[in-house]
Amino acid sequence: MLGQMMTAPLLISSLIDHAATYHGGTPIVSVNTTGGVENTTWGQVATNARRLGSALTRLGLEPQARCATIAWNNRRHLEIYFGTSGAGFVCHTINPRLFPEQLVYIINHAEDRVLFIDETFVPLVASLADQLTELKHIVLMGPRNEAAAEKLPGLKFYDELIAEGDPAFEWPTFDENTASSLCYTSGTTGNPKGVLYSHRSTVLHSFAGNTADSLAITARDVVLPVVPMFHVNAWGVPYCAAMVGAQMVMPGPNLDGESLVKLIDDYGVTIALGVPTIWLGLLGHAKAAGSKLASLERTVVGGSACPPSMITQFREEYGVDTIHAWGMSEMSPLGSVNMPLAKHRALPVEEQHKVRESQGRPPFGVELKIVDDEGNDLPWDGKTQGDLLVRGHWVLDAYFRMDDQDILQDGWFATGDVATLDPDGFMTIRDRSKDIIKSGGEWISSVELENIAIAHPALQDAAVVGVAHPKWDERPILVAVPHEGQSPSAEELLAFFDGKIASWQVPDKVVFKDVLPRNATGKVLKRNLRDEFGDVLTG
Ligand code: ADP
Repeated sequence: MLGQMMTAPLLISSLIDHAATYHGGTPIVSVNTTGGVENTTWGQVATNARRLGSALTRLGLEPQARCATIAWNNRRHLEIYFGTSGAGFVCHTINPRLFPEQLVYIINHAEDRVLFIDETFVPLVASLADQLTELKHIVLMGPRNEAAAEKLPGLKFYDELIAEGDPAFEWPTFDENTASSLCYTSGTTGNPKGVLYSHRSTVLHSFAGNTADSLAITARDVVLPVVPMFHVNAWGVPYCAAMVGAQMVMPGPNLDGESLVKLIDDYGVTIALGVPTIWLGLLGHAKAAGSKLASLERTVVGGSACPPSMITQFREEYGVDTIHAWGMSEMSPLGSVNMPLAKHRALPVEEQHKVRESQGRPPFGVELKIVDDEGNDLPWDGKTQGDLLVRGHWVLDAYFRMDDQDILQDGWFATGDVATLDPDGFMTIRDRSKDIIKSGGEWISSVELENIAIAHPALQDAAVVGVAHPKWDERPILVAVPHEGQSPSAEELLAFFDGKIASWQVPDKVVFKDVLPRNATGKVLKRNLRDEFGDVLTG
C-alpha cells in the first residue's frame, strides 16, 4: 500500500459539533414568533439539538423517521435541523403557503411521524389534523400553551420535550448516504415531488457554498437568511453557517422591508439572502427610512431572475455587492453563482457590471450543459439557447417514493429551464421552458423583457407572458404593477423598450394589476396570468 488517509462519514452532526467547539460563544439572534428577540449562541443551539435528538430517540422513532416542520426562521427551527438529522432522522421542512390539500398529501406521502409547528400555524394544523393519518406527535415550538393544546389534543411542547432530553447525547454514526432532509417542490402542476437529501450531499454542498467564489460565508459574517427554512433548506445556509461558525440573525415571521432593514441595522448584518421580491420591499423601505444599510456587504439573490436594476441600485445607493445565484430544490439548491474572473478586472466598469447580471458559473461539484430537443450538446457561444442539464454531487438522482422514474438523460438531470452558456461557462436563464414565448418561429425570453420593464421608475413589479395571437401563435404582453400613486400609460411603458431590444420582441400590449399572483416560494404564477389575459390579443 502506497499510502492511505482516514475516512469518516460526512455527517450533519459534525457541522454542529464544529460550530459548538470552535464558535460556541458566537451569537445567534432569533426573532420570536410571538414577538420579541431572543439571543442565543451556537453552543446553546448545539446543546439543544443534542437534547432534541435524545428526546426523539426516546420517543421510539424508527431510524430515518420523517420529522416535519411548519415554521419560520428561528432558533428552535435551527435546533430541529441539526437535532433531527444528527440523530438519524429526516428533517422534512414544509411550506405553509401550500394549499391545505397539498399539505395533507405531503405529510401523508412522507409518512411524517412528528410535526413541529410554530404558534402561527396552530389553526392551520388543527383544521387538517384528522386527515394526518401517519402522524404520531405534534410539537408546538415554544413553552406550554394551554390555548393551543385545546385546539390540538395531545399537543406536546418543544421546550418541555428538550428539557427531558440528554444534553450529552452522543450522535449516532452511520453511512453518509443516509437521508438527512426532505423538501417537496411547489408542484404548480400535479402533486408536489419530494427531494431527499443525504448527509453526504449536504456536507459537500456546504463546502461548495462556502468557497470564496460562492457564498463565501466566514466566521466574520453576520448572516441573515431571509430565504425561508422551508425553501430548499434556506438554500443550505444554516449548514454553511455552522461549518464556519458565522453569526446568524433569524428573522422570524416578518419579512417586510421595515422589519428587515431594522434587523440589518440593529445587528450589523453583512450578508443577506433571499428572492428578488423580498429585496424590492427592502429597497423601498430603506429609501423611505433613510437607512444606508451600512453594515451590509453582500446580498445573494436567487429563486427567480434578479433584475439588473436591482443589482445597480444595491451597488450605487448602498455599496452592496449583489451575488446572483441560480439553483433548484433538485440541486440542494446551489447550481451556479455569479462571481467575476480575473480577466474582468481590466474591463470598463460598465462591462464589468454587465458580467454580473447572468446567473453565473457552477462551483466545483456541479456541471452544466445545454442541449437541443434530441439531446445533442449545443455550443457555449452566449447566444444559442437550449435545455439546461445538470449533474453533480448534490443533484437529485430520483424523486422520493415515486414509481416509474426515468428522470435522467444519460446521467444528467433536465432542469426544465432554457439557458445560454458563454465561452467562460457563464449561464443565463432565458426562461422556464413552459414560459418561453414562441412568436412565429422565434423565441422571446420573458425574463429579458421583465428585466427591462422593472427598471421603469413608475413600476413596482412586472411580468411578461405569451398569449395567443392570430398571426404569430403567441405574442408577449406586459403585466405591469405601478408604484402606489403612479399611473404610467401603456404607450410610455412600451416606449421604454425602444433601443433596448429588437423591435419585434417588444410586447404587443400592457395590462395593469395591483399585485402579481405568486406561488409559495415567490415565483410569479404565469399560468394564472395566461388564464386571465389569454384572449387580450384575440378577443
Ligand atoms: P419551487 O419554487 O417550484 O419549489 P425551486 O425553488 O426548486 O422550485 O425553483 C427552481 C427554479 O427557479 C429554477 O428551475 C429556475 O427556473 C428558477 N430560478 C431559480 N433561481 C433563478 C435565477 N437566479 N434566475 C432565474 N430563475 C431562477
